[in-house]
Amino acid sequence: MKIAVIGSGYVGLVAGACFADTGNDVACVDIDEKKIENLKNGILPIYEPGLSDLIERNTQSERLKFTTNLKESVENSEIIFIAVGTPQDEDGSADLSHVLSVAKGIGQHMNCPKIIVDKSTVPVGTAALVTKTIKEYTKHDFEVVSNPEFLKEGAAIDDFLKPDRVVVGVSSERAERTMRELYAPFVRTNNPILVMDVPSAEMTKYAANAMLATRISFMNEVANLCEKVGANIDSVRVGIGTDSRIGMPFLFPGIGYGGSCFPKDVQALIRTAKEHGVDLRVSKSVEEVNFDQKESIVKKIVAHYGNKNITGMTFGVWGLAFKPQTDDVREAPALVVCEQLINLGAKIQAFDPEALETFKIAFGNNPKITYHESNYAAINGADALIICTEWNAFRQPDFNRIKSSLKSPIVFDGRNIFSLNEMKKMGITYYSVGRPTVS
Ligand code: NAD
Repeated sequence: MKIAVIGSGYVGLVAGACFADTGNDVACVDIDEKKIENLKNGILPIYEPGLSDLIERNTQSERLKFTTNLKESVENSEIIFIAVGTPQDEDGSADLSHVLSVAKGIGQHMNCPKIIVDKSTVPVGTAALVTKTIKEYTKHDFEVVSNPEFLKEGAAIDDFLKPDRVVVGVSSERAERTMRELYAPFVRTNNPILVMDVPSAEMTKYAANAMLATRISFMNEVANLCEKVGANIDSVRVGIGTDSRIGMPFLFPGIGYGGSCFPKDVQALIRTAKEHGVDLRVSKSVEEVNFDQKESIVKKIVAHYGNKNITGMTFGVWGLAFKPQTDDVREAPALVVCEQLINLGAKIQAFDPEALETFKIAFGNNPKITYHESNYAAINGADALIICTEWNAFRQPDFNRIKSSLKSPIVFDGRNIFSLNEMKKMGITYYSVGRPTVS
């Protein structure tokens, strides 16, 4: 099939490369000329494991190309995916300006019947809005399909090639047939293509993210309570997760969820509900808990030093990305932790395996933060180590080196990556989430 994917970010690039890899002709389109120029030269705008090889293979075989030319891409495609960003607007709702600007462009350049697919995460009613926008500019026949994306950054290729399910919202058999054909190579192990009406597909994406965010905030609340009552969240997590009605995934406590999806999607769902006179109390609390959780590690640090001034102290921070295996720092807890510590007068020495550059841009220039090329360099002479992201490379460090690098052996772990026994054995004062403090 001939496909255009408009928006070459995390979702658009992965979708485009994976569709090309199954034999389709794909044009990845973006308005960012520098991004497209770089992509043409094999320079990727994001870090995503496996993506570079996939792009190289498919550009070489000329199934995948990068362009800023929307007109040509629309004219040459049977299926057009909209995969542009839908960031949070000031009032919490999803900002649809990029989606609707693409819709206008599609309408202006449409030259024959096409299927338009909303891949971006968009509120219920957006497909109707996109339809209305396109109709203002063309008389050609078209249908707007909803096909929300569930990939996880860091495992995006695998998720796209082997999805748990593909959700497709359609209003005609023709569109259903096309989508089934397109996704057939990705559902060969009986993972289902779930065909439903368009509003249900749009709602499914938000409901899924809100449910996952709820599990995280719930576990963070339980973990905070464990700390107060002397319980250990590790045991509690296994204790509840082995109940088949609950299940093990997504039960890890930490210092809050971040990223480009959960925070904005929970907000957007709350906003959609409000517009329909519905008060989503659970989701509102999920948000509040998450906000507080990002600050929880700073509170532990301040309490450890006897609630005294931490001005002039230096903290080594391991992990800046919102989660491992990505360079994405959007809404990352590390942004809050570093900002609050600096506001309290401390200095930060930071390290991340992939997110140093993106963090520098997001955090902005600040003389109180320095960036380092290795995790050990980041703790050299620091008062304590803080862990904000659970990169695998941090899990089995040289604890003796940590001890000799720090002024005193203190670790504040926001991701529970070390065992309490190991910390006790090493004589490290160790704070984690929902587990007894080792001192
Ligand atoms: P992104 O910010 O990484 O990429 C969006 C791209 O769209 C950018 O390159 C931008 O330049 C481009 N763009 C903006 N306006 C454009 C226009 N008018 N024409 C052409 N290109 C334009 O965003 P993303 O993370 O890929 O997310 C895209 C959508 O997918 C969002 O709705 C997001 O919520 C959803 N989503 C994201 C993820 C994820 O893990 N990142 C997962 C599932 C769903």
